[in-house]
Amino acid sequence: MEISQPLEELDWIPRPKILALRRLGITTVEDLLTHFPRRHEDRHQFPEFPRDESEKPICLSGQVIKTSFRRFGGRRIFEATLQEPNANALSQPLILRWFNLHYIQKMIAADQQLVVFGKLKLRGKRLCMDHPEFEVIEDDEEKSIHLRRITPIYPATEGLSQRVLRGIIYRLLQDLDTAPIEPLLPKNLKNGDRGEAIRAIHFPETWQSLAAAREHLVLSEFFAMQMLIASRRVDSRARASATHAGRGELMEKFLSALTFELTTAQKKVIAEIRRDLAAKYPMNRLLQGDVGSGKTVVAIAAILLAAEAGYQAAFMAPTQILAEQHYAVLRRWLDPLGVKLSIRTAARQEETFLPLVAGDENADVIIGTHALLYEKVSFSNLGLVVIDEQHKFGVAQRARLTSREPAPDVLVMTATPIPRTITMTVYGDLDVSILDEMPSGRGKIITAVRDSSKLGDVLSFLRTQLEAERQIYVVYPLIEESEKLEAKAAAAEYERWRERFHPFSCELLHGRIPGPEKREIMERFRRGKTRVLISTTVIEVGVDVPNATVMLIENAERFGLAQLHQLRGRIGRGEHKSYCILLTSEPSSEAVAKLAVLEKTSDGFEVAEADWELRGPGDLLGTAQSGLPALKIGNLRRDAELMRRARAAAMSVFAADPKLESAQNQRFQHLIVEKQGRTFSNVS
Ligand code: ADP
Ligand code: MG
Repeated sequence: MEISQPLEELDWIPRPKILALRRLGITTVEDLLTHFPRRHEDRHQFPEFPRDESEKPICLSGQVIKTSFRRFGGRRIFEATLQEPNANALSQPLILRWFNLHYIQKMIAADQQLVVFGKLKLRGKRLCMDHPEFEVIEDDEEKSIHLRRITPIYPATEGLSQRVLRGIIYRLLQDLDTAPIEPLLPKNLKNGDRGEAIRAIHFPETWQSLAAAREHLVLSEFFAMQMLIASRRVDSRARASATHAGRGELMEKFLSALTFELTTAQKKVIAEIRRDLAAKYPMNRLLQGDVGSGKTVVAIAAILLAAEAGYQAAFMAPTQILAEQHYAVLRRWLDPLGVKLSIRTAARQEETFLPLVAGDENADVIIGTHALLYEKVSFSNLGLVVIDEQHKFGVAQRARLTSREPAPDVLVMTATPIPRTITMTVYGDLDVSILDEMPSGRGKIITAVRDSSKLGDVLSFLRTQLEAERQIYVVYPLIEESEKLEAKAAAAEYERWRERFHPFSCELLHGRIPGPEKREIMERFRRGKTRVLISTTVIEVGVDVPNATVMLIENAERFGLAQLHQLRGRIGRGEHKSYCILLTSEPSSEAVAKLAVLEKTSDGFEVAEADWELRGPGDLLGTAQSGLPALKIGNLRRDAELMRRARAAAMSVFAADPKLESAQNQRFQHLIVEKQGRTFSNVS
């Protein structure tokens, strides 16, 4: 039997089962061996039936002594009564219950032996288990596979029961050659036999051997992923790139004109970037810094180093508002230094009918939105690409600017705190700089969750802020999807808020407002002429108005935690104390727990970890488009430490032997074959 053999060639698996397996994506021996259990049950010995509820699901076994139907408030309840094996007068049976699941009644009958898994609840005096996972124990001879051991429970599918799937995998492992298989891991990371690990992940002798097998396989999986990432780094480092750093005089002039001192973190990061700009390899750097940590100053420093060396820089922002803001900030600093700027956004183009190409060749810095990617912006001498708020761009979009030849240096910035394991994977081919320090002199932000019914109290508080000359953002979630309805909803929203804040000046901002008008609205708010800005999340990223001290968010539960944290980052930018008020009319415990995270912490990394925990990985930060293989066993959250070790091992393999030529490294060659085409470094 070969590991790559199609399952059809094994004559003992019935055709219908082959088809069912195919639905799970399993077509070869290897696929089946790496269809890992999602959990195990200890079926050596089952505990006596407990008498109390338990939050943790438990595994029990017993005999069905009767089944019945009940109706309860329009629901059909199927019940099976389970008795424990050595029942005595004191034993209490367990009631298994299924609501409105008609097919279960065909599967369970009196006298059957069952193994069940679920949470126990007390209902009156009866101990119940609702919708348990269950397995009917059948013929005697197979009991050694399914019982009296640590039993694997698989992700299953229709047409393939746990028992059948388990039986097939058991047989497959029996037939498997027992010759040791060398691990797909360097010796210093993990020793041991890969075949043994695969055996033990399915049918472990002990819990310890299961844990060891899992560690082996997770490390193998992570190591393979990190080898791929490391090879991408090696490839991108090998691209030709000029030195893009001047002597630093322009930068020094800029820094010495600032009214504040750089934070230590900013200084450190600027030095890291400067080193990359000066080097002959292309920079690929991710700058992480929580909202308000001062990334723009760092970007300007990098741009000036490139400009001084005679190179153009492109500065890309995700929204027009943000591009305009950067343009205004950069002009203030760069005009006096004689550095020429130009701006490209779709809205600007409509407004001025400027031919897009004219003038750009002469600009030292071109600021823009996606228009920078798709319009014919002509760069004469592009040396540096800065991408602000990277999470708003896809991998392919980034590659459009960065895959040019000769390779420009690339700095991507993000205020979305990224859990460290994700940084090591999705962004694993980038070097990372972190601004882990906030500028001093920032006012504190207080965050509070309030029920919508308390709006009256909240409003009187907001008035005190307005009377103290402060400004306010009100953010509401978009509900309607069509353009027309959206504009209408926004207008109605606006009227309501205007009345509430009378006589203070309010303005409305949303995505459908034409570009030039948007710019004027922002400008009036920035200058303090408008006191309250009622807005959709178009202000989510980047907007910087230090006098705004209140962020009021309606229906806050509809936003994700990361997004709420971003919105909160719009305040607390000046010396005044600031307030983030999360209004909600949703009393569910999930909503409350979610919003409470923000009350507890203002640390972006903590918010990101909590968000991850609450939502699951999902497509957090575009993992799907990273071109990395899906994980079969490793868990990015649980196994962060193993990821770190695997990454260090892969890096050191490549550091010592970049082409994987040595005898011991040749076996890793196949790990670095890109399966879905290059995504980061090679998209044209
Ligand atoms: P973000 O990292 O969120 O993009 P910005 O670059 O917009 O943050 O900076 C936020 C505000 O902090 C700006 O008004 C900026 O001028 C100011 N700032 C940046 N660095 C410092 C510093 N070292 N000390 C004081 N203020 C700073
Ligand atoms: Mg910013």
